[in-house]
Amino acid sequence: MNARFKAQRETRDYQASDAAHHIHAFLDQKALNAEGPRVMVRGEGLYLWDNDGKRYLDGMSGLWCTNLGYGRQDLNAAAARQLEQLPYYNMFFHTTHPAVVELSEQLFELLPDHYSHALYTNSGSEANEVLIRTVRRYWQVVGKPGKRIMIGRWNGYHGSTLGSTALGGMQFMHEMGGMLPDFAHIDEPYWFAHGGELTPAEFGRRCALQLEEKILELGAENVAAFVAEPFQGAGGMIFPPESYWPEIQRICRQYDVLLCADEVIGGFGRTGEWFAHQHFGFQPDTLSIAKGLTSGYIPMGGLVLSKRIAEALVEQGGVFAHGLTYAGHPVAAAVAAANLRALRDEGIVERVKDETGPYLQRCLRELFGDHPLVGDIQGTGLVAALQFAEDKATRKRFDNESDIAWRCRTIGFEEGVIIRSTLGRVIMAPALVAGRTELDELLEKTKLAVDRTAQELGRL
Ligand code: PMP
Repeated sequence: MNARFKAQRETRDYQASDAAHHIHAFLDQKALNAEGPRVMVRGEGLYLWDNDGKRYLDGMSGLWCTNLGYGRQDLNAAAARQLEQLPYYNMFFHTTHPAVVELSEQLFELLPDHYSHALYTNSGSEANEVLIRTVRRYWQVVGKPGKRIMIGRWNGYHGSTLGSTALGGMQFMHEMGGMLPDFAHIDEPYWFAHGGELTPAEFGRRCALQLEEKILELGAENVAAFVAEPFQGAGGMIFPPESYWPEIQRICRQYDVLLCADEVIGGFGRTGEWFAHQHFGFQPDTLSIAKGLTSGYIPMGGLVLSKRIAEALVEQGGVFAHGLTYAGHPVAAAVAAANLRALRDEGIVERVKDETGPYLQRCLRELFGDHPLVGDIQGTGLVAALQFAEDKATRKRFDNESDIAWRCRTIGFEEGVIIRSTLGRVIMAPALVAGRTELDELLEKTKLAVDRTAQELGRL
């Protein structure tokens, strides 16, 4: 490891101080304190190093975000330049600045013509928080203030703030004080688990029809929007059957319900298209973005509006009483603009679509198509999931599938690869700059982790 990054303090010293002062995300803090977190100190390309010098291949792009990999000098330089020139200014006092203007120009150059405006935020949760208010405001402006209810999906994830938690479908989060009135949910299109005797196409349509039933139950005059991830990320990397999105779109149009895509994970090239809705072939009214917008180098998110919504808000809406101190932050905007420039000029998204994505997907199917622990393989581009199953033919899942996937991911860490577990699945989403060498290492180490898990279960 580069001498510059030699451990400054003992790992256990960092861990003790962390345990004394810091509450982590989605973890039992007491158990974590007993174990001690890994202390990550450096990143370069797809690799991370911990404080003890152990190297990991990051198969998850941090948390689905470091799409350009670690250590990009162009992004660092963009931040440094902007910090020198203008580290902060707000959007409240009738002002703007070049960094945010240039970011918007770049963003709308790569977005389909259907979209025209964005509101910027600091995170994906905030993007969805802003979505809820913006959608409700839109319906007020166009004279239908009764349309307030937001419909999401069970097991969908839209963030950890209050509104985004209620919009999401994680029941354990709702139970911890995270539910609000005027939110409803329909089932996730998870064929492997819930498809029964239906074909994927039949099941996709069946799941979509639940939206129609829900709208009729609530009254279309009360429903503002349907919000979903084009493919479900945190809820297990669940790809809907092809029949799903066209039917959802038909229903939203028929009942005048806005169709809102959460592109926080799927946006900026993950599927090989710039946005995941383009992969699935539907046209949302809004896009929630974050993560890949800056490749995670600095926090930034946003809500992209279709021309129809933007026009109503701008031309007829008057003051929209909403604003964030750091919306369109110049340093974040400069990093985002540099990130989008790199993705575009280096042809990274095209490479995911034509080369690296098909390569990863083909190799996964060759390696795991007949594996005794794997029941299903899903994904496209540089995102994929392996579903563990007791019996592939009948799609019987293990009773303790979450423990099995967690064990597999833990072995992955031991083997020096970071993959994620969600329910009975392990997920990978490497940086979009991954080449064949890194993908081969990801595949090889994931295979080792899955094989070792299968051996422990006596299935290999
Ligand atoms: N939407 C989706 C689809 C996400 O995956 C996430 C984060 N994993 C969020 C929203 C929330 O983003 P953030 O953590 O930046 O608030």
